[in-house]
Amino acid sequence: SRAPRTVTVTGAAGNIGYALLFRIAAGGMLGPDTPVRLRLLEIPAALRAAEGTAMELADAAFPLLADVEVTDDPAVAFDGVQHAMLVGARPRTKGMERGDLLEANGGIFGPQGRAINDHAADDVRVVVVGNPANTNALIAAAHAPDVPAERFTALTRLDHNRAVAQLAARAGVAVTDVAGVTIWGNHSATQFPDLTHARVRVDGGWRPALEVVDPAWAAEEFVPRVAKRGAEIIEVRGASSAASAASAAVDHMRDWTLGTDAGADGTGTDAAQPGAGTDAGPRWTSAAVVSDGSYEVPEGLISSFPVTSDGGAAWRIVPGLAPDESLLPGTGGRLAATVAELEAERDAVRGLGLL
Ligand code: NDP
Repeated sequence: SRAPRTVTVTGAAGNIGYALLFRIAAGGMLGPDTPVRLRLLEIPAALRAAEGTAMELADAAFPLLADVEVTDDPAVAFDGVQHAMLVGARPRTKGMERGDLLEANGGIFGPQGRAINDHAADDVRVVVVGNPANTNALIAAAHAPDVPAERFTALTRLDHNRAVAQLAARAGVAVTDVAGVTIWGNHSATQFPDLTHARVRVDGGWRPALEVVDPAWAAEEFVPRVAKRGAEIIEVRGASSAASAASAAVDHMRDWTLGTDAGADGTGTDAAQPGAGTDAGPRWTSAAVVSDGSYEVPEGLISSFPVTSDGGAAWRIVPGLAPDESLLPGTGGRLAATVAELEAERDAVRGLGLL
C-alpha cells in the first residue's frame, strides 16, 4: 500500500466529527489503498470526549488507520497536514449579534490559518465546514500568506447533494441519473441551487432537467427547499444534520484529491456508468473556492461555483454555465444577492481587523 496521508479534523468531538472520522478511517475519502494518520483538534473542554472517539477508532481496528493523535494545540494538529477538515466553529447562540459570531470565529480560524501556514505539508488541501464556512475559509486563507489561496475551500457539497437528491426524487430517477446541478454563492439560506444546466437520464437518454420537471417547481419549491433543508432536518430529526454533512465533506475532499472523474460522486461521475460522461455532457460538482472573477463574483471571495478537479492542487471553475432566468423565472437576482451577502461578511470581518 501507499504512504500514509495526514488528515486533521477540528471539532473532532462534535457531531459531524463523530460521523466523519469513521468514514475517513475506513478509507472512504482517500481510497482503499491509502493509509491515514488522523490528527484530532479540540478545545480543552472537549479533549476528553475526543479521546473517547480516538478509543472507538482504535476499537474499530481499521486496517488503513496508521495513527491517531488528539491535541488542543493547532501547531501539533496541523503538523504535516495534507487534508485539513475544519469542522469546529463557534455556533451562534441566543442573542448573539452577527459581528460577535464573526469575531468569535475569527479567533478560531485566524490562528488555525496561521498554524496551517507554518506547519502544513506543501500539498495541503483545506475544506471549511464550520459556519459561516465561506467567510471562515477567507479568514484562514488570509492568515496563511505562504499557502496558495486556492488551497482554502468551503463546503457546499452538502447543498449540492441535497439538490441532486431533490431533483432525482421529483423526476423519479436515481441520483446517478442526475447531472449538471450547480450551487452558487454562500453556504447559507441565500445560496442559489441552479438547475439551468442540469440534465436527467430518462429511458436511457440524457435530457435537460427543465424539460423533465416543471420550471415553476424548480424556481419556487426546489430552490427554497434546498436552501432551507438544514432547518427542515432539525425540525424532523430534532438535531442538526451531521452524517450527511460528514458524507459531503468526504465527497468534497475525495473528488478534489482523486479527481471528479475518478469515482462515484453522486452526480453521475461514477465510473460504474460507462459512457455516461459522453452522452451526459461535461461533468462538474459544486464547491466554494476563491473567485478569479468568474461569473462577476469579485476576485478573492470564496464563493460556490460549478467546479471540476483533475486531482491537482486546485479546483477549476467551469466556464459557460451562467444561470439563465429565462429558464428559471424569478431567479434573476439570486446569484448577485448571495454574492452581496458574501461581500457584506467580508467587509464585516475586514472591519473587525480579521483579514
Ligand atoms: P457540529 O459538529 O454539528 O457542527 C460543526 C460545525 O459545522 C458548525 O459550525 C455547523 O454550523 C457546521 N455545519 C456546516 N454545515 C452543516 C450542516 N449541513 N449541518 C450541520 N452543521 C453544519 O457541531 P458540534 O457542536 O457537535 O461540535 C462542534 C465541536 O467543535 C465541539 O466539539 C467543539 O468543542 C469544537 N470546537 C473546536 C474548535 C477548535 O478546534 N479550535 C473551536 C470551536 C469549537 P452551524 O453551527 O451553523 O450548525
